[in-house]
Amino acid sequence: MDNKVYAIADVGGTKILLLLVGPDQNVILRQKLPTPPEATPELVVKVIEVALSRALQEVAVSPQSLAGLGVCIAALLDFEGGVIYEAPNLDWHEPIPFRDLLQRRFSCPVYLENDTNAAILGEVTYGAARGHRDAAYITISTGIGAGLYLDGRIYRGSGGFAGEIGHFKRFGKGRRCGCGGSDCLESWASGEGIARSGRMLWDESDPSIGPLNTAAVFDWAEEGDILAGSIIKQAVEDIGISLANLATLLNPSCMVIGGGVARHRPALVGQIREKMKHFAVAPVIKVSPLEVVAAQLEPEAGAWGMHAMMCR
Ligand SMILES: [Zn+2]
Repeated sequence: MDNKVYAIADVGGTKILLLLVGPDQNVILRQKLPTPPEATPELVVKVIEVALSRALQEVAVSPQSLAGLGVCIAALLDFEGGVIYEAPNLDWHEPIPFRDLLQRRFSCPVYLENDTNAAILGEVTYGAARGHRDAAYITISTGIGAGLYLDGRIYRGSGGFAGEIGHFKRFGKGRRCGCGGSDCLESWASGEGIARSGRMLWDESDPSIGPLNTAAVFDWAEEGDILAGSIIKQAVEDIGISLANLATLLNPSCMVIGGGVARHRPALVGQIREKMKHFAVAPVIKVSPLEVVAAQLEPEAGAWGMHAMMCR
């Protein structure tokens, strides 16, 4: 049995989730902190360091007895070298030796992983994809991305950037994407893409309309508004086509759908499942069974993936 204590931080654009996990996956402490606005990498490291030392004090665990620190983050990063190349949510666009910055502050081993890669490892180890050797985790949130688990291990690609399906092209017409390209899947079908489509149709300065966010478009669609319904229908179709292509390429036995938008709109998983089964080449659906399921560990799938990685 593993009787060690692990620290985990999931760094998001608006908040940082901190977990201290003891023996038997027992959560000793769970904390959410705001990500400082316009945070530099040094500042994020400082926030983690200060919060963690306070947390350890609180539960009377000495920092020396920490068995590992696992950090996952929505970023294009090189796992081997621990370098972040691009973290759009944090507005980091230059290479940052982020794992080294952390390692200078902690004596335990430090692991740095992309959040969706961590999430698929979490779901395969403890969640919805348990027992699968070939699986993918898809996040539908502000953006869209995938973590791939192939032949029993995380698949990162040659540079560590595999799974960026949010930038599949070409969807819609004439919309710039945060990656610098245009008409990427996520510029139309992510939470932010859906809100942008809403803002094209309605004037949010009109007090009877109110703030035009993802939830508003979903709510109106559910109330029967035809325009809002067509935005959601198109987003589901775009995601369905993309996941069908992913299934056709990889032939996984399980696809786990997570992320904030999917979590708040549970009907979405079934709608996407129907679309993708329609578009994928038949044998990947009919001959080898493909489960398309909601994530089980949300919103902590990434954090538990880091736990799984450190316990191995
Ligand atoms: Zn893009």
